[in-house]
Formats: sequence, C-alpha cells, structure tokens
Amino acid sequence: MQPSKTRLIEALKAAVGTGEVLSRPEDLFVYECDGLTHHTGRPSAVVLPRTSDEVVACVEACAREGVAFVPRGAGTGLSGGAIALGGAVVIECARMDRVLEIDPVDRVAVVQPGVVNAELSKAAAPFGLLFAPDPSSQQACTIGGNVAENSGGPHTLKYGSTTGHVLAVELVLAGGERVRLGSRAGGDPGYDLVGAVVGSEGTFGVVTEATVRLTPVPEAVETLLAIFPDVVSACRAVGAVIRSGLVPAALEIVDQRTIAAVEASVYAAGLPLDAGAVLLAELDGPAVALPKQVERVRTLCTASGATRVEVARDAAERQRFWRARKGAFGAMGRLAPDLYVHDAVVPRSKLPEVLAQICAIGDRYRLTLSNVFHAGDGNLHPNISFDRRDADELRRVLAAGAEILELCVLAGGVISGEHGIGAEKQDFMPLMFSPDDLDAMRRLREVFDPGRRSNPGKIFPTTRFCVESNPKARGYERVSFEP
Ligand SMILES: Cc1cc2nc3c(=O)[nH]c(=O)nc-3n(C[C@H](O)[C@H](O)[C@H](O)COP(=O)(O)OP(=O)(O)OC[C@H]3O[C@@H](n4cnc5c(N)ncnc54)[C@H](O)[C@@H]3O)c2cc1C
Repeated sequence: MQPSKTRLIEALKAAVGTGEVLSRPEDLFVYECDGLTHHTGRPSAVVLPRTSDEVVACVEACAREGVAFVPRGAGTGLSGGAIALGGAVVIECARMDRVLEIDPVDRVAVVQPGVVNAELSKAAAPFGLLFAPDPSSQQACTIGGNVAENSGGPHTLKYGSTTGHVLAVELVLAGGERVRLGSRAGGDPGYDLVGAVVGSEGTFGVVTEATVRLTPVPEAVETLLAIFPDVVSACRAVGAVIRSGLVPAALEIVDQRTIAAVEASVYAAGLPLDAGAVLLAELDGPAVALPKQVERVRTLCTASGATRVEVARDAAERQRFWRARKGAFGAMGRLAPDLYVHDAVVPRSKLPEVLAQICAIGDRYRLTLSNVFHAGDGNLHPNISFDRRDADELRRVLAAGAEILELCVLAGGVISGEHGIGAEKQDFMPLMFSPDDLDAMRRLREVFDPGRRSNPGKIFPTTRFCVESNPKARGYERVSFEP
C-alpha cells in the first residue's frame, strides 16, 4: 500500500480527535525547530495526545502508513532533537501534563511526560520535597524531555543529572506495544533498561509515564556571589572549592559579556558591569553546618583572586542572583537574532586553560562568544551570538563550534554534558566512539525500535563526516594540555 498523507491525517484525527491534529503549513512552521534554530525540519503533521492510549493509536497509525514519528515535549531542546526529518509526524506530549501521584513515604512522583519541570517541584513542595534536576529552562521544559536528554542543571553538581532520579518509565514502542521498565522501589534486577531509556533522545519510543524520585527540600541554603577580574581566575576558584572537600549544591560561572546582556535585560540582578566574571556558589544542608562552609568558600574565592564576595541576605536576593543566571540565555537575545548554545564537558582541572583557548577560538573566527556554565561539573556552554541569515557568519560559527568540541575531547572531555546529540552533533560522535562502539549503540537502539521509526536521523553519524571530523586525522593530537 502506498503511503497517503490524507489517509494518515484521517487516521491521526481518529486517534486523538480532529482539533488535536495540526497539518496547515502555518501551524507546522512553529514545529520546524527547537531551541537550536539553525537546524530545521518540517513535520507532515503534529498530534497532541492526552493519554497513553492516544499515543498508542498515533504510533499505530504511523506504523500503518510506514511513517516515522518524533516525540516532543516543549521544544526547548538545544540539539535539534525534536525536529522532524523526512516528513515525520511530531507527537507532542505537552498536553499529557498531569501529576498522577505524589507519595511522600516512597518519596516518588508518578507523572505524565508533559508535566513542566518547575511545576513538579511546585506540586511536591507541600510535602517538603522537590524534583532535583533543574535545567535553566525549567519553567518550560517537560519531564519527558528531561528523561530523553538526561538533562542536568546547576544543582546537578550535588544531586546528579536526571538519570539518578528516574525509577521507572512507561514507553510506547514504534509498533504500538506498551512496556513498563523499572520499579518504584528502585533497584531493578537485571540490565538497567531504565538507565538505557534515559538519554535515548526519543529514539526508543515515546515515554508516556515516569516514576521519579523526589528529594527533601534542604533545611537551609546560602548563596554567594564572588566577583572576579576574569573567567580564568573564577575557574581556579572552582578547583579550589572542590579540592577543599566541600560539596556545594551549585558552582556556576557567568562571564563579562553575559553579565552585560543580563544587566540590560529584564533579568537584571545588579551584577557588577566591570567584573570579568562572577561565580555563583550555593551551599545547602543542615542550617548549623552552613556558616562555616560559607566562610570557607569566601576565603577560597578571595585566595583565587576574587575582588569581592557577597552572600545573599535573604530568599529574595538569592532568587535575584538565580534569575540572572537562569535568564542568561534569554538575555543573549539582546546581542543578536540567533544564539548557538554549545555544550561540552571537560575535567574540572582543565577548565582554566580550555576556557582561555575557547575565547581565543571565538576571537580567531571574529565571533561574539560568551560563557555561562555549570563550572562545578566542568560543563561548558560557550555561547555564540550570530545572525543565521549571514552565510559567512554561520560558516564561521559552525567551524568554531567544531574546533571547540575537538578541543574539549582532546582535554579528556566529552561532546555533550546535557543537551544531547540530536541532529546537531551526530557527525561529531566519531570524535569519541569507534565504528564498533557506534554499532553496539545501533544494536541497542534496534532492540527497542527495529524499524528505526522513532526519531530517525538523530544521534548516529552520517559516514560522510566520519573521517573529516576525526581530530587525529587532522593532527590535533599534537595539542598539549600540560598545566
Ligand atoms: C534557555 C534554555 C536553558 C536550558 N538550560 C538547560 C540546562 O540547564 N540543562 C539542560 O540539561 N538542558 C537545558 N536546556 C535544554 C532543554 O531545555 C532540555 O534538553 C530539556 O530537557 C528539553 O525538554 P523539552 O520538553 O523541551 O524537550 P524537547 O526539546 O521537546 O525534546 C528534546 C528531546 O527529547 C525527546 N522527547 C521529548 N519528549 C519525549 C517523550 N515523552 N518521550 C520520548 N522522547 C521525548 C525529543 O524527541 C527530543 O529528542 C535549556 C534550553 C533552553 C532553551
């Protein structure tokens, strides 16, 4: 039977209702990209299910027509993961937004995938609990997206990324089968299949329910803002704090260009415009333990070159500091129409030298590059502001991005800390993985999705770039990373 778009749309309408299927060009346009705007792909239709049964019906309709599908949450992803390639159908789970259960004894929540991250913590707050993974996009991004990307956030330093907080999932596979993996009790004997689903970027099927761990709200929190003359000395302070044995909840760096954009925006927090960088350090735990830790961090920052260290006087000031940090990407919209948020990780010890080299790459390509990042985790976000309508600038942006990734891998790091591979970095996978590694990953994916119909065209490289992007082939192994 030949695939028919008309028949597909009718089948999808039968699955979810007429008003829950979008197929007009002006509606589909909205779904052409995620937060990474220069990767685009137009879906043939978008469906908006509310229940797992409706997801099953949508997936079965796609299977009958031999059409691929892409699970989507809020579309805040930064690696092109939620875009539809080859006219796939987008299954947007944002309307599956119910918190089904909060159990303060088991300390778990059972949620539909479209629950917004920050809303889950709000729902858990009356029980003295929160959902610890806190991406800066948490006011918009969904738990389904967090699970698919294994998302992190500022507090990942102490609490770990999403994978440490997912106990069980319900997954609808490409053939329409519904499987449940894991258990609310934690520890599931046998292979860690929940662990495999977390971070699978929608390539295993649609997550239709998640049982997640909730964390007690800490008794006390202290937030420090340390002002540094430059980003390299702020990085040194991060190393000093970690080496001291303290386990801060968060260590975040915001550089000068980002400070300027934030202070000119609605997120302004009174950050000093003459600072080279600020380090936001958060400590949490029993109230009695914190004053000593605050003094220790203050001393270490000063010894590393901080010119001033402020401690938030109250919750309002603390929130102001965090609004500046979490609003930083949004504020960058003041600098240029487009922002390429990079995401790579290096060992913390390499932060100062890698940061210096990243800034040099930005200068060499004549780009507006700024840095705001999860410094405690070594998770860098070099941000390049640009205008994608300028073909030459876009070319320079992509070339600089490739060099940054290669630099990070050579420093002993990895090509993504939290934003995933998606359509953005698939051709950089050979920087880290051999053909055999990639083949093993493909075979794992095919256990879940033998026909490769769930989010095809993501994660795995196209052979064309494999050799070109191998840094060894370009002689990059000669770059030295001696301290
Ligand atoms: C301003 C800003 C700040 C950000 N800060 C952070 C940060 O601090 N830390 C961080 O980790 N990320 C951050 N991100 C990236 C992004 O918000 C996260 O990756 C987030 O988890 C994506 O959630 P989403 O609901 O928007 O997913 P989408 O963008 O819609 O989808 C992302 C991926 O998840 C898959 N997916 C979505 N829902 C499902 C489902 N139900 N089942 C299976 N697969 C699914 C999609 O196919 C896609 O591959 C930021 C983004 C922005 C725009």
